[in-house]
Amino acid sequence: EIEIRGLHKSFGDTPVLRGIDLEVARGETVCVIGPSGSGKSTLLRCVNLLEEPTAGRIVVGGAEVTDPEVDIDAVRRRIGMVFQQFNLFPQLTVAGNLTLPQRRVLRRSKARAAEVARENLARVGLLEKADAYPAQLSGGQQQRVAIARALSMGPEVMLFDEPTSALDPELVGDVLSVMRRLAADGMTMMVVTHEMSFAREVADRVVFLDDGVIVEEGPAAQVVGAPRHERTRNFLDRVL
Ligand code: ATP
Ligand code: MG
Repeated sequence: EIEIRGLHKSFGDTPVLRGIDLEVARGETVCVIGPSGSGKSTLLRCVNLLEEPTAGRIVVGGAEVTDPEVDIDAVRRRIGMVFQQFNLFPQLTVAGNLTLPQRRVLRRSKARAAEVARENLARVGLLEKADAYPAQLSGGQQQRVAIARALSMGPEVMLFDEPTSALDPELVGDVLSVMRRLAADGMTMMVVTHEMSFAREVADRVVFLDDGVIVEEGPAAQVVGAPRHERTRNFLDRVL
């Protein structure tokens, strides 16, 4: 579903991604781990063109994202992204947060957008909060609304950039359960995370990124449980 070939990204003359090759199959969940500054966010942001790759090729769902002729808006519609900061519209209710982008971007009718919003709020366990405002919700609930909002656009793949790192520890579990269920339902996902237990339990594959290159990748039990490379071991010693 996602194919990344020879991806390079520099900011000015500073190389940040230095030749990334990675495939994520349909229905697969890949967790990306690595030290701060290793390029994890930049990698995700290149996939939906929030950053323009310096070189390389990225294909999502059969369409080449890096084609210069590409319709960026069409690409982004097919890729849901959830950030560390929830970025909800504070002046809109929860339901309004979910319906507005559907109406604006997908031109769905009011009734259809509302129906899809309800389906996805139910999916994240927050149907009863439809009329609440973001400020009335906990961080964990806000993040689940952000996930439901992304899902309401009907994405083919979902990208998560440290979705739980801004949350108080007691709120992390609910967000991870929602993601665990999404993965089990067959969503294609790339997840940047520091939650090693989540990576071990949910990821089909774990990718360890360091200094803009993939140092090691494989099943979670191998990369997290029995890393082959010293850089991976050093990193895991620090975070586990
Ligand atoms: P963290 O775990 O702290 O989120 P990360 O692995 O996500 O780190 P990135 O945010 O991808 O790392 O950043 C990788 C490198 O690229 C860093 O050195 C960062 O300073 C640099 N960088 C990222 N975005 C930009 C930008 N817009 N302009 C210049 N440099 C940038
Ligand atoms: Mg980051």
